[in-house]
Amino acid sequence: MKDLSRLVHQPQISQEGFASLNTATYRASTIVFDNAEAYARRKYRGPDGYSYGLHGTPTSRTLEAQLTALEGGERTVLVPSGQCAIAMVFATLLRPGEEVLIPDTVYPPVRGFCMNYLAPRGIAHRAYDPLIGAKIENLLKPDTRLIWMESPGSTTMEFQDIAAIVGVARKHGVLTGCDNTWATSLLFKPLSHGVDFSMQALTKYVGGHSDLLLGAVTVKDIGHHRALKDTMRMMGIGVSPDDCQLALRGLQTMGVRLAHVGCVAREFAQRMAASGKVSRVLHPAIAGCPGASFWKRDFSGASGVFSVVLRPCAPDVLEKALSAMKIFSIGASWGGTHSLVAPMSIEGDRTVTPWTESGAILRFSIGLEDPDDLWADVETLFSALAAPPQASGAST
Ligand SMILES: *Cc1c(COP(=O)(O)O)cnc(C)c1O
Repeated sequence: MKDLSRLVHQPQISQEGFASLNTATYRASTIVFDNAEAYARRKYRGPDGYSYGLHGTPTSRTLEAQLTALEGGERTVLVPSGQCAIAMVFATLLRPGEEVLIPDTVYPPVRGFCMNYLAPRGIAHRAYDPLIGAKIENLLKPDTRLIWMESPGSTTMEFQDIAAIVGVARKHGVLTGCDNTWATSLLFKPLSHGVDFSMQALTKYVGGHSDLLLGAVTVKDIGHHRALKDTMRMMGIGVSPDDCQLALRGLQTMGVRLAHVGCVAREFAQRMAASGKVSRVLHPAIAGCPGASFWKRDFSGASGVFSVVLRPCAPDVLEKALSAMKIFSIGASWGGTHSLVAPMSIEGDRTVTPWTESGAILRFSIGLEDPDDLWADVETLFSALAAPPQASGAST
């Protein structure tokens, strides 16, 4: 072999004796075949075989298999974000003339996808009260194809009666899907409650370090897996093995991270409720959290994200109070090592269950910092909120 060929063809080296605890990051577009016949027959390798890097590598398959086992399913597909995972389910199942029911508290970009992508293509959507339970039967029409669920609902933390909704859906031959991002596969297992599509944003607790975007859908029915893979192939959707590697790393510590943040979040929620300094605490362990009985019945714990409704105050008071916090960062997304606080505006996101509280909503995501530092920061926030308003025009 001459040098130019040597540059291109990597030498074979022995892997004997090399045993790592981790899966390698296999990067590939091309996958080579032993002979022309194997190449010609590559499509018969099917969705579980290897044919092209976009459709799977040993790295992505390892992550898929791990999530499948955790969710109690048969197959998992990986896509570039949680939003993409939801879009894949909807785009795979829904045909013109059909409709999807979405909870009024759905992750807001899902409503945007329904309004701006599905509707112009003749696919309808209707929002329903997340606490509707078995009464969802009254909403079904002959062309209802899918009931989407998200438990708890984004920001306002409504837990759904998934068993009741699935019962109705099955009776009428309607498919169901559930966004399981808040609970992760550790705290809730949608497939074991009869849900057809369990979706999660791996971006949150699985990634766990605010530096990864990835989504997953796990199913029990192989036919659903084939259909999802077909859509992904048509649209050219695949994921990077480096991203899968980060998710595989995140999973290894997710158990202790989730247990810790769940514990601190619950303690903080209790203290906030007892402090009398907020108008409402939306955490399933605190009385008054909508659907908390379904959380008790179905979930094995709570993660580190919850919301509070503040007593009404002027927007600039809230802005100053949030800026005074030193440990909590202000930002969207959640589930990482850094604690976050985000002022949420849900106006315009609710169409069938009007939100009537006048105080601002803050969403907290508890991270891994020292809980005493975090609580001191919460007290900073509360005292800034309680400070008497400064006379307008006063200089500092
Ligand atoms: C963040 C989030 C998503 C979207 O995940 P991305 O990876 O950011 O697209 C979907 N559902 C819920 C409940 C989320 O919190």
